[in-house]
Amino acid sequence: MLYDSQNIFAKILRREIPCTPIFENDHVLAFADIHPKAPVHILIIPKGAYINAHDFYAQASADEIVEFHKAIAVIIEKHDLQKTGFRLIANTGVNGGQEVPHYHVHLLGGKYLGPIISDPHA
Ligand code: 5GP
Repeated sequence: MLYDSQNIFAKILRREIPCTPIFENDHVLAFADIHPKAPVHILIIPKGAYINAHDFYAQASADEIVEFHKAIAVIIEKHDLQKTGFRLIANTGVNGGQEVPHYHVHLLGGKYLGPIISDPHA
C-alpha cells in the first residue's frame, strides 16, 4: 500500500487545511479532533509519511519513534491526564476502522471512557 499524500492529515501538515494545534515539534503535530468523542480528544501524528501503526513502527527512525512517544507524554501532562487516566487508540486498517491513512494516535480523556471496545453487532 502506498502513502496517499492527499489524505486529510497530510493536508493539515502542509497547512492546506486548518486545525486547532495543541503541540508541535520537528517530528510531531498534535491537534484537536474535529468530532470529539470525549472532553479531551487529541490526534497526535508523526510528520513523516506513514500510513498506519505498523508502517510507522516498522519504518520510522528510532528518533522519530522516541520523539513521538515523548510528545504523547508532554501532551498528557499538559492536560493533567496522568492524574485521572486516559486512553490511547491507534485504529489501524480495515478491521481497526481507520478512516484517515496517516498514522495517528487518539488521546481521549476528561471522563470515564467505558469498555475498551463496543460490540459492532450490538
Ligand atoms: P480514525 O478513524 O482514522 O482513527 O480517525 C480519524 C479521526 O480524524 C476521526 O476521529 C475524525 O473525527 C478526525 N478527522 C477527520 N477529518 C478531520 C479534519 O479535517 N480535522 C480534524 N481536526 N480531525 C479530523
